[in-house]
Amino acid sequence: MLQGFCSVVSAMSELLYKSTRGKNEPVTASQAILQGLAKDGGLFVPEKLPQLDGSIASYAGQDYREVAYRVMKQFLTDFTEEELRDCIAKAYDDKFDVKELVPIVKVGGAYHLELFHGATIAFKDMALSILPHFMVTALKKNHVDREIVILTATSGDTGKAALAGFADVPGTRIIVFYPKDGVSRIQELQMVTQKGDNTAVVGIRGNFDDAQTGVKELFADADLEKTMAEAGLQFSSANSINIGRLVPQVVYYVYAYAKLLGQGVVKTGEPVNVVVPTGNFGNILAAFYAKNMGVPIGKLICASNENKVLFDFFETGIYDRNRAFKLTTSPSMDILVSSNLERMIYRIAGDDADRCAALMNALRTAGKYEIDEEMRAGLSDFVGGYATEEETAARIREIYEKEGYIMDTHTAVASRVYAKYVEKTGDKTTTVLASTASPYKFLTAVLGAIGKLPEEIADDEFAKVDQLHAVSGVKIPKAVEELRTAPVLHRRVCDGDKMKAEVLDILKLS
Ligand SMILES: *Cc1c(COP(=O)(O)O)cnc(C)c1O
Repeated sequence: MLQGFCSVVSAMSELLYKSTRGKNEPVTASQAILQGLAKDGGLFVPEKLPQLDGSIASYAGQDYREVAYRVMKQFLTDFTEEELRDCIAKAYDDKFDVKELVPIVKVGGAYHLELFHGATIAFKDMALSILPHFMVTALKKNHVDREIVILTATSGDTGKAALAGFADVPGTRIIVFYPKDGVSRIQELQMVTQKGDNTAVVGIRGNFDDAQTGVKELFADADLEKTMAEAGLQFSSANSINIGRLVPQVVYYVYAYAKLLGQGVVKTGEPVNVVVPTGNFGNILAAFYAKNMGVPIGKLICASNENKVLFDFFETGIYDRNRAFKLTTSPSMDILVSSNLERMIYRIAGDDADRCAALMNALRTAGKYEIDEEMRAGLSDFVGGYATEEETAARIREIYEKEGYIMDTHTAVASRVYAKYVEKTGDKTTTVLASTASPYKFLTAVLGAIGKLPEEIADDEFAKVDQLHAVSGVKIPKAVEELRTAPVLHRRVCDGDKMKAEVLDILKLS
């Protein structure tokens, strides 16, 4: 009786989240955020993608925070207006070094959406500055009295952004695993100097996929879950597998379109293409969600570096991770298992959880899977592209010399892929390009690309900072300035298969 009543109410007002592998009961948004990953190993997806709450034109000229509220409330329906606005106000404040939060700059023919003006100068801040507030709110709403332990694998940028977001947040602790030799020096320094009594950082001898696989195994470890529960602890995830990461990323695609509309760059309804430098498929999936909400987006151009597993997938319908993992100058995209693609697979399988689970199982056991023609048709909005290391460096140099604009290596991958796409197709549609990191995060590669890295400063990270400032005139971000004097606080290193022991030790459970 009561249950029937509840489901009628929820059908009218509440958006629930179900697992891509189908074994879980649907949960509310706040529960999905707290859990991170579904118990059956799947990812949470909304039962139905919501629509914009008004015409896209009604967003033109609106402040980022207002756009954020209007988009987020469509997804996070069990948060009250007050709760959402409070999370937004705490997240999008003067941690950002520009007032508009996300400036749009025309570079190389595309509108760069500069998503790197937050506390840790990568686009991950857009979601990770709000996720901790979502979690604290969700803990209260669900009367959870356990402490949340955020377990995160990072290819470089998520780790710091998550640490900064969760440091000293009551009711939470955070443990970050990063590939010891797979991140830039600035990225590593940012993480190992993180303050906060509730933070831990561990370098692993392995690559990002090892770290991500290890973290997923820890989430699925029933013994560990029991030990944790007895100690009043519960895991959650700050990776983009958490729906609380994805939703804030939808916001800036709505904002970008509305801004271009307000500026008269596009007319109402005129489509824009979007180019996204892609690793775990989170950022571009957010663009796809924005399109499905009603933002006039045409093509979604998925840009990979030399780890071009996604490019091959779009070309052939075969996802095959059995290949050499390459360390590139765009380390945050050095990924062979793009976790968020599972949400897309589920969708193009017609929301068939069994089929999705079977494909993901094939990926786990054989390292590959193939989708059929019908599923491939569901990917028609996507175009895959990739840039080699040489092409990426050449693009940084070309744009620097022609336009005096300096971009980071990840953004450069996207910029190069965009140029190749236009050359090949002649498609002149207005294009938004997700600019994902500050060039100050990838000094060696960026200075090398423009031929301004003299031998004598090759080993001096902060001389490189000054050099980049001298040659670009771009203000040194506070996030980098602070590192000059910050003491190293984290020195843990472990093997890829010893992550559990490390977690037990950090949580004092061993
Ligand atoms: C994480 C990251 C990416 C890749 O984003 P995904 O959501 O994992 O596809 C690209 N560029 C930078 C700088 C990043 O930090």
